[in-house]
Parts: sequence; structure tokens; C-alpha cells
Amino acid sequence: MPRLIKISWYVLHITGWEGFTIKPIIVEDLCIGCGICETICPEVFELRDDGLAYVIDESPSDDLKEAVEEAVEACPSEAIELEE
Ligand code: SF4
Repeated sequence: MPRLIKISWYVLHITGWEGFTIKPIIVEDLCIGCGICETICPEVFELRDDGLAYVIDESPSDDLKEAVEEAVEACPSEAIELEE
């Protein structure tokens, strides 16, 4: 189900529909602690001492959408999912 939501989000994003708020989620079992998400969007993602990334802003503002999307695409283990 989360993967379906992720795909739906991309479809809506590509078509330019902006009428919803994204909610990034880290799937802990998949995160390898590389820190790429934090590097791309430190306003939303934070790598902590336990070696995992955490979402520190669950409702990013519109101006962070592109950075969040970039982090999702750049995550090497596909550990970041997006919900409405
Ligand atoms: S980019 Fe992906 S694997 Fe790397 S720290 Fe972030 S969530 Fe974890």
C-alpha cells in the first residue's frame, strides 16, 4: 500500500496537481544511514547517532516539496515513502 501511495504521489506531482500536503516517512528497516536525505533536505531529514534517518518535519511546506522529492529519488535503499 505505501508503494501505491508513493506512485500516486508521483503521478499527481507530474500532472501538476498541488492540492495536498506530503508526509515523508522513513522505513527504518530499509534505511542504511547514508545521510543523503539530510544532505539534500536538512529541514526535513536528520541522521541521528543510532545511524538512522528521521523525519523532523512531517508536514513540509510547499517550498520544500522539490527537495523532499529529490531525497526520495536519491535514497539508495528506497527507504523514504510519501503519504498524503
Ligand atoms: S537517504 Fe535513505 S538510506 Fe540514506 S539516510 Fe536517508 S533514508 Fe536512510
